[in-house]
This record gives sequence, structure tokens and C-alpha cells, in this order.
Amino acid sequence: MLGSGAVRDNPRRGGPSQILYIDNQILMFDCGRSASSNLSQRGIGCEAVDRLFLTHLHFDHIVDVPYLVFVGWIKERKNRLQIYGPNGTKDFVKKIIRPPFQQDIESRVAHGKDLTLLDPEVYEVLQANQFLLDHNYQISSVFMNHAGIPTLAYRIDIGDKRIVITGDGVPDEQFPEFCHGADLLSIECSGTSEFLSQQAWGSWHIEPASIAQIASKAGVKTVIIKHLVMEDITGDREIGNYMAKQIQSHYDGEVIVGEDGLAIDLG
Ligand SMILES: [Zn+2]
Repeated sequence: MLGSGAVRDNPRRGGPSQILYIDNQILMFDCGRSASSNLSQRGIGCEAVDRLFLTHLHFDHIVDVPYLVFVGWIKERKNRLQIYGPNGTKDFVKKIIRPPFQQDIESRVAHGKDLTLLDPEVYEVLQANQFLLDHNYQISSVFMNHAGIPTLAYRIDIGDKRIVITGDGVPDEQFPEFCHGADLLSIECSGTSEFLSQQAWGSWHIEPASIAQIASKAGVKTVIIKHLVMEDITGDREIGNYMAKQIQSHYDGEVIVGEDGLAIDLG
């Protein structure tokens, strides 16, 4: 987990971002504030990211994308970065790379920099389905109900391991089936139900009790919670543990409060 935070500039938590190492490949999920510097603190350069999966286009999940792209280019990535995301991702990438940085790009090209491999290859995931088959893993998507914008959750199947990573949002009743038997469910937990009910945006997010229900029904082994907006707003550093306990009281598996730099080996 590169960034366990959310929208606000919590100094203890970077914006939403996670990576998954599969053999020699590095897959990144969301690319929020400080994702690239948290990546380099793990000893991984921007150029080493092979695929980036965006859950949705709220700024907190994508604000570090241009940095990742430009530094990967400067450091001469070997393969073109592939970006997957919901409807609107092509437009976002098209607008965020070339137009604002035109002077930068022109000056570097004038000094001999090769433009090849600057522009990422972008794929929009428009349906809930299995959309990527690599030789040793498969990635599937499902939609979440979030703020009226297209929002995806991803499932990665690698051999007999299953990992589900959500961005934000409230899943539908099919979601436990999507998560069935997952070794790891990394899911947002923006606040307690009381807190969410007081926020104008509260209905955009899942409640701790629903996380417990899904994880139990799906037989998930470990739940990681992240995107702790309530910690940002109240300053209460114990709220993550409190919500983890709420989940734990209705779920037999393990619940971990996400931290920047948290690493889990699934073997
Ligand atoms: Zn969001």
C-alpha cells in the first residue's frame, strides 16, 4: 500500500494508491497524492510500473498520474505504460499529459529526448467483465455506485490467489460473489455510519457494517481498510482501529487498518 489516505492532505497518509507485484510485473491501482514518491521509497522507480488501473476519476485517486508518466519517460521506461480506467480515462490522459506540459515536452525534444513511450496506452473498461488476461493472471471489473461517476473495483486472480481492490463506492448485491473466496479485500472505509449520515457526500461510501457483511458472505480471508476520510476531518487517529473493530465484530476473518508502506506477501 503506497497511500492509505483520501482527499485531504493528511501528513501521515498519501493519496489512494497500491501496487501489486506479480513475478516481475508491477501493477498500480490508483495514483493519488505522493504515489510516485511513496513508490520510490519502496525502491521502485516510476519507469518500473507496467500497468496502472484507475478506479475512477476523482482527483484524489489520479492526481499523481502526470508525474508517474513524465518521470517514467525521463527515466526511459522499457515498455509503454498501459492505463486502464472507466469511461473518461482516455480524455483525462489526453488532456493531462501533452497540453499542460507542451513547453516542457518541446524543450526536452529539442535537446534530443525521444518522444517514443511518453504517451500511455489507454484502455477504457466500459463493462463489468474479465477484461485482461495475462499469461499468469486475470483481471476483472465491477461497477460501484459512487457520486454518479463511473467507478470500478478490480479483481486480480493469480493461480489460486484472489485479490479485490476497490476505489470508492457502494457495491451492489452481486459484489460478494465477485469477491468470493478472496485472500485479500482492500476496501475504502471513509467513516462510521453515523459520520457518513452527517456528510453531504456520505451516501457515496460504504459503511463498516456492510464491509463486514460482504466479507463474511464472500468468505474473504483478510480485509484491509483505507481512505479514512473521517480521520482527516476529525483528526482522530484511533478511528481506523475503531472501524476495524466494528467490522471485526461481525466478521471472522482478519481486519487490517491500512498504512502507507504496508506490505502483504500472499506467497
Ligand atoms: Zn471518489
